[in-house]
Amino acid sequence: MTALRRTTQKQAVQQALEQAGQPMTPQQLCGQARQQVPGLGLATVYRLLRGLLDQGEARRVEIPGHPPMYELAPPGCTRHFVCQQCQRITTLPAPARSTAGNLPPGYALDAQQVILWGRCPECQ
Ligand SMILES: [Zn+2]
Repeated sequence: MTALRRTTQKQAVQQALEQAGQPMTPQQLCGQARQQVPGLGLATVYRLLRGLLDQGEARRVEIPGHPPMYELAPPGCTRHFVCQQCQRITTLPAPARSTAGNLPPGYALDAQQVILWGRCPECQ
């Protein structure tokens, strides 16, 4: 055992989120991160995710009809595209123009979640 390649459990979970580029369920994350840290348990993944959420490094993605998922928190507003054929969820960059201008006076926008439904390039 060398000190060189010792990926911590937290690093493994962060890397899995980074590489996915799309929201993942804790189960999917656990499977991915286990390739780095064999024996990683689901309870540990939940605990690490809670820590990442508290630190604002990750966020929970709630899409109707899908289990709660997690992704690294990208800055600003995001859009999620749900493919109605293969159910794949992709995180799209935020639109160039914010809709904050449409808010009635007296409202301040902190975050925005937009969900788009359709078919992904592979399912067209
Ligand atoms: Zn698709």
